[in-house]
Amino acid sequence: MTDLATIPFNHPHLAANELGYLAEAVRGGLTSGDGPFTRRATALLRETTGARRALLTTSCTHALEMSAILLGLRPGDEVIMPSFTFVSTANAYALRGAVPVFADCRQDTLNLDERLVEAAVTERTRAIVVVHYAGVACAMDVLCAVADRHGLALIEDNAHGLGASYRGRPLGSFGVMAAQSFHVTKNVQCGEGGALLLNDDGLASRAEIVREKGTDRSRFFRGQVDRYRWVEIGSSYLPSDVLAAQLTAQLEAFDAIQLRRHRVWRRYHEELADWAAGHGVAQPAVPDGCAHPAHLYYLLLPDLRGRQGLIAHLAAEGVRAAFHYQPLHAAPAGLRYGRTAEGGCPVTEQVADRLVRLPLFADLTDADVTRVVEAVRSYDPA
Ligand SMILES: *Cc1c(COP(=O)(O)O)cnc(C)c1O
Repeated sequence: MTDLATIPFNHPHLAANELGYLAEAVRGGLTSGDGPFTRRATALLRETTGARRALLTTSCTHALEMSAILLGLRPGDEVIMPSFTFVSTANAYALRGAVPVFADCRQDTLNLDERLVEAAVTERTRAIVVVHYAGVACAMDVLCAVADRHGLALIEDNAHGLGASYRGRPLGSFGVMAAQSFHVTKNVQCGEGGALLLNDDGLASRAEIVREKGTDRSRFFRGQVDRYRWVEIGSSYLPSDVLAAQLTAQLEAFDAIQLRRHRVWRRYHEELADWAAGHGVAQPAVPDGCAHPAHLYYLLLPDLRGRQGLIAHLAAEGVRAAFHYQPLHAAPAGLRYGRTAEGGCPVTEQVADRLVRLPLFADLTDADVTRVVEAVRSYDPA
């Protein structure tokens, strides 16, 4: 095996127009934010997500921070969210002084357990943030109903879910706001980048102010005001048009990227089914009504020892695999800035220890997939 190149965990796909658009953006000289490629990428993104409004941002983290500013969160306000997520989901709200309230996830999809959310609502709760893990939708019917019943804002951290849907409706269109990520590890990427999708017109007009250092600069450029001024708190959340050029090419290639990713995902799912069933390993669950975007492929080993053993076994076979989120409710900053919902997060704690992600990217060849499958099948977690 030593003469075979190591299969990386991730490798970004180079889209057909990517280098051409990058050169065009640099040569054109309009490299600050909101240039011609930003308009093109934004239009493509709205087509894919069906969002009423979309604003490119410097990251998904920053899109989440914008959502916290736009909600007007104050110190002591509570935001219910899963513990099983990336740090930015919590950090964005903690930055405003709000308290992340961590709830447990479902055993099957690893998404926020919708049955636990209502019990976590207090008179200080302002919002529910959902994360569609692996782009498999949360139970949005139940979660939207809970948010409505209690007058709470629903925000989607849709970093995994570009192109996914729930009962035919695109993810990112359920919440009052949704955050997308174009980090190099995501299906469509520009190194570092993101977007805030807005499904509310009032918030959308404020969002362009928050994104432009708290000024009405966008209105000024549209000729709606005769000078621009500082009108709200905000920051600089708009990406360079150079990154938007890369993103435009990536979004144009989205269908081709997805075709390839789905093929890899399906092969893992089918070709590892017998091995998984025979070794007490769980494969991802995709409930009815969820069309997922093949963002990641994971396996749940029987225990931590089995998971660490598989990662080491794959490394020896020249395959890079990775574990994933460490529970936020038990992290140092989670303990300091957040609170754990009644009942704790026992499912989160055990899945975080058992989960391993396999290499999944558009340029993985069929031969690579065969190698990964054979490497996994030659492991016995017992
Ligand atoms: C990747 C990711 C983020 C952060 O995205 P950035 O664009 O790197 O800021 C946030 N939430 C989730 C669930 C993610 O997977």
